[in-house]
Amino acid sequence: MQKLKPDYQKVLDDLLKDIKKHSNSFLGYPVSKDFNFEDLSEFLNYPMNNLGDPFVGSTYQVGSRNQETEVIAFFADLFRAPIDNFWGYVTNGGSEGNLYGLYLARELHPKAMVYYSEATHYSVHKNLHLLGLQSIVIKTQDNGEIDYDDLRLNIGMNRHLPAIIMANIGTTMTEARDDIYQIRSILKNLAIQKFYIHADAALSGVYSAFIKPRPAFDFADGADSIAISGHKFLGSPMPCGVVIVKRSNKDRIARTISYIGSMDTTITGSRNGHTPLFLWYSIKTLGIEGLKSRAMQSLMVAEYATNKLMAAGIDAWRNPHAITVNFPSPPLSICQKWQLASEDSLAHIICMPNVSTDQIDQFVLDMKEANREITMHSAQLQTY
Ligand SMILES: *Cc1c(COP(=O)(O)O)cnc(C)c1O
Repeated sequence: MQKLKPDYQKVLDDLLKDIKKHSNSFLGYPVSKDFNFEDLSEFLNYPMNNLGDPFVGSTYQVGSRNQETEVIAFFADLFRAPIDNFWGYVTNGGSEGNLYGLYLARELHPKAMVYYSEATHYSVHKNLHLLGLQSIVIKTQDNGEIDYDDLRLNIGMNRHLPAIIMANIGTTMTEARDDIYQIRSILKNLAIQKFYIHADAALSGVYSAFIKPRPAFDFADGADSIAISGHKFLGSPMPCGVVIVKRSNKDRIARTISYIGSMDTTITGSRNGHTPLFLWYSIKTLGIEGLKSRAMQSLMVAEYATNKLMAAGIDAWRNPHAITVNFPSPPLSICQKWQLASEDSLAHIICMPNVSTDQIDQFVLDMKEANREITMHSAQLQTY
């Protein structure tokens, strides 16, 4: 066993202190922190690697393939994928899942035009560049949802091209959901024969399945693939995600690689063998009921936060069934203390399952105080 010199041990101790401190006032990013994977700590002593296709064995056997395929089957079922025609893998995060969805789409329709809204995650633009796909940015409505009229207009102008549509199931800034059912009807009305719809459900995918009425976001609604992040709503010590696609589409890109004794069907070579285990542990300990109550808890806290902020005179709002609460950007000190992301003078808190009403109360107090200072300051300026 290696042992650290005391100086370096101190570096680690300080880092841990720092991380604990910053974990407590953390409302701006969609990351759950209420997990405990101590049961799995022994696995950190092994070089787990699920390289290749999770559904095809490999000569490298220090891994968690069986758990990975269970995770895939769980989410395929939750997202109503065709029972006999789904496939997927545990990714390094939502971005990789989106890249994979677009990659399959391009293999099916190499000359396609990609449509995505201006509220789409920043990684998508880069992914399109990597894949050499042409694209058109579609306007959004005020709430961050795609503007269906603008989508219809743009697809209509490019009717000669197959259409690939990136639908947002919870945008990064306002958690708006694009309606896949409406997107499908636009394609149908324009008689577009060749199309592919990928759902970027990084943030809201997991709990959208528990909302009534169920948002139109999954395979039964017309999606061809769905990507989620594992470290967001579920929670994981390392970034991870899940992508679910139709197996028949994946089969078009499959290649057997004798070196690993598996199929090279994923983006990277080596793949994390620990993250599938974390996700497996979460779904086994929580089950559908546990996930559902996590979702309801988050939605309840989001409603509580919206009401509290409004009562404090702050212009707060949220999309229907969203756990993101939006408001005008507060002073920098608040953004720093609570680690809020801010864009175009709009900021938000995200009521992840670990966020308590006590934390919201604290936050609202800070917001009130800041508002009071601003009002006093401008009153002083006026009398001056
Ligand atoms: C977080 C997020 C992503 C990226 O996911 P990562 O897991 O960070 O790679 C993509 N799209 C949306 C809407 C997101 O919220």
